[in-house]
Amino acid sequence: YANRTIGVDKNVWVEFTQLAADYKAVNLGQGFPDFSPPQFVQDAFCKAVSGGPQMHQYTRAFGHPRLVKSLAKFFSRVVGHEIDPFEDVLVTVGAYQALFCAFQALIDDGDEVIIVEPFFDCYQPMVLMAGGTAVYVPLRPVNGGSTVLSSGDWVLSAEELASKITPRTKAIVINTPNNPLGKVYKVEELQMIADLCIKHDLLCFSDEVYEWLTYDGAKHVKIASLPGMWERTITVGSAGKTFSATGWKVGWAISSGKLIKHMKIIHQNSVYHCATAAQEAVSHGFDREYELFGTPESYFQQLPATLHRKRQKLASCLRSVGLQPVMPEGGYFMITDISSVNVDLNDESTKNESYDFRFVKWLIKEKGLATIPVSAFFSPEHSKEFDKYIRFCFVKEKQKQWKKAKVIKQLE
Ligand code: PMP
Ligand code: GLN
Repeated sequence: YANRTIGVDKNVWVEFTQLAADYKAVNLGQGFPDFSPPQFVQDAFCKAVSGGPQMHQYTRAFGHPRLVKSLAKFFSRVVGHEIDPFEDVLVTVGAYQALFCAFQALIDDGDEVIIVEPFFDCYQPMVLMAGGTAVYVPLRPVNGGSTVLSSGDWVLSAEELASKITPRTKAIVINTPNNPLGKVYKVEELQMIADLCIKHDLLCFSDEVYEWLTYDGAKHVKIASLPGMWERTITVGSAGKTFSATGWKVGWAISSGKLIKHMKIIHQNSVYHCATAAQEAVSHGFDREYELFGTPESYFQQLPATLHRKRQKLASCLRSVGLQPVMPEGGYFMITDISSVNVDLNDESTKNESYDFRFVKWLIKEKGLATIPVSAFFSPEHSKEFDKYIRFCFVKEKQKQWKKAKVIKQLE
């Protein structure tokens, strides 16, 4: 085997998705909707697969022409920059592959990459596999967490971030809305990060897969739209999250063609191209949303409205058993502090693991409820400080919510 496989073998999704299945637990762990995508994209998919031979064959390597045009048209308006569909967009197998291409194409041996914690776990192995070194800076709860009620109370210290920058720093990775916390970065926070990127000539990898899911007036801002950031930001998106179709695995990276062209090289020599019919369907989805943008019929209005109700429901379930949720401003996850729950974690097989991993294993095995331990989203050096939280996914149907409420009651 190759050395690059060493040290990146553990994966929280592989482990906990399997465990949830083994114990037939109610799965509020892995983040995916348990309902179908909206009818208009389902119809577009069906139409695509019955629409003639070309929909079943290869399409353009860097993105189906119809899709890159739809993405460019849609996001030019959002980002305030004219996006060239053939130069500035790369369609990938989910946001995962967009991230992978970004790290492989733009990070060299010995480069340092600053990752803001908590972070979607794959950034770390991807930096390592590219030969880089991950450097971490955590969002921290104000007042040490005692009064924290919202993900907005977790903040990034400008001084701490600046102190991590060295001559070897190549990029800063952010994720807004954040998984697992739900933080939606405010424009001032993004401006602080942008100022550092510009001052030190750094790239910014901005993972925005939950961009349409914001609540209570929180506004998602693209860091690429700030002055001086377009040409240094790779913005990553996902049709899986955008249209509740995670199994289609359509994602994209949008940036200046000067950066995208290097990512295309990784893509053409690995995946080469993505499923044609799924891209066609996503393209129709974006065209519809372009027309309905900002109206109540837009799925980008309807999905967050539905999720807002689910978020309230989950929060009250948690409160009813004495758990204090950190209310997410965006995304479809909610974390809660479990240090007040009195359980005897005496399972010998997990005794060397962190508290939250042990707790979640107990919850799955003994209570039939799967969640995700939050320390999985922190670096080894900071995970000890953040090992008393678990993450719930609330993009789930009502019936499950009730079932879950019952399961949560068993915590009492
Ligand atoms: N980034 C974040 C923050 C995520 O939560 C996910 C989860 N799916 C991804 C990237 C990967 O997205 P995809 O399913 O489109 O590969
Ligand atoms: N992004 C989803 C989550 O955070 C799914 C992750 C995965 O399946 N690898 O739960």
